[in-house]
Amino acid sequence: MAQFLDNFLEQDKENIAPLYGKADVEFVKGEGSYLFDSKGNKFLDFVAGIAVNALGYQNAGIKQAVIEQLNHFNHISNLFPNYPQIELAKALREVTGFDKVFFCNSGTEANEGCIKMARKYFNRKGETNRQKIITFVNSFHGRTYAALSATGQPALREGFGNMPGDFVHVAWNDVAALKAEVNADTCAIMFESLAAEGGVMTLSKEMVETINSLQKEFGCLVIVDEVQAGTGRLGTFLGFEKYGLNPDLVSMAKGIGGGLPLGVVLMRQAIADQLKAGDHGTTFGGNPLACAAGLSVVKQVCATGFLDNVKARSEQLKAGLKALVAKYSFAKEVRGDGLILGIALDESMPVGNVVAAARNEKLMVLSAKGNVLRMLPPLNVSEAECTEALAKLDVALAMAAK
Ligand SMILES: *Cc1c(COP(=O)(O)O)cnc(C)c1O
Repeated sequence: MAQFLDNFLEQDKENIAPLYGKADVEFVKGEGSYLFDSKGNKFLDFVAGIAVNALGYQNAGIKQAVIEQLNHFNHISNLFPNYPQIELAKALREVTGFDKVFFCNSGTEANEGCIKMARKYFNRKGETNRQKIITFVNSFHGRTYAALSATGQPALREGFGNMPGDFVHVAWNDVAALKAEVNADTCAIMFESLAAEGGVMTLSKEMVETINSLQKEFGCLVIVDEVQAGTGRLGTFLGFEKYGLNPDLVSMAKGIGGGLPLGVVLMRQAIADQLKAGDHGTTFGGNPLACAAGLSVVKQVCATGFLDNVKARSEQLKAGLKALVAKYSFAKEVRGDGLILGIALDESMPVGNVVAAARNEKLMVLSAKGNVLRMLPPLNVSEAECTEALAKLDVALAMAAK
């Protein structure tokens, strides 16, 4: 069935709340790393639904898993145990070494879950003084109130009234500022293993060491937001593994559902021990279709050689992006790690111009804060597709410079 309208963008404007700036393109189908529009144009997709389509479009394993689950039930609620949730939780525990899993539907919900569980943990232990959660400037943790309070971007909070309190933001990789904030009243330090939306920023070695030592010294919890960087995107199943962190709580979403809405909280046993039935919950969380898709994603991402491809494609793209930075004067530096990569641009070249020029060349890329071009290819992207992306980006940068 063809799925297109005569004037997508106008009909979108007419019917959908005006909360997003949308591109004027009518996608009707995806296949692997490519998207096709209603005019038959073929785009190489290095947005991947904002890191959601970890295995590209029409992945056979995900399709089969979802169809099989559709033949059982779509949903039965969290009043009853169900097979897809249990199987996915077992797989996640085995891969990550965490002890218990809570399922929800999105990144912001996973972060809300982490925040609530961290505070409840200390509350049940009688340490009611531990309220303060330290996060980072330019971080992104989601749009619901607690996750928005955690998010280090004041502009996103503007006009939305009072926020949940006791969130403090320190500058990314500012070791001294973090040390000055953490004390015996700290509930948690919360951060992304790679700050993607905020400008594709990696953690310094010194910052990792500081977080690890503060966690030991003050007994505060460490919450790592793996919503974008998790599910294999940095070449390890969870991003923090690469940097040697030891979180107590982890949030996942985006890639883990392979295109279906799925959020995950991973927790240590000590935290699960302080939770009781009714403390937190969600009607849709751990939806059986989403969990069936998630199990297929975990199996594929953890299959032999899969993460080697992520690492190899990362090296290939980094080398190609470095060459482009050397070629174009407005391109300042390559940013990122794994398959969250980007180029920081100077003020003379607004990133939006490059994103539009790339789309003209049939390459989909996106931006990040601070005038940074960002690329999030599917994790099973091929060497040839990366070569194609770099060639298209080269042309796009040249066109944008004209
Ligand atoms: C996208 C994102 C979120 C929010 O996820 P939603 O599913 O949009 O609620 C939270 N944290 C990080 C790091 C993200 O990239």
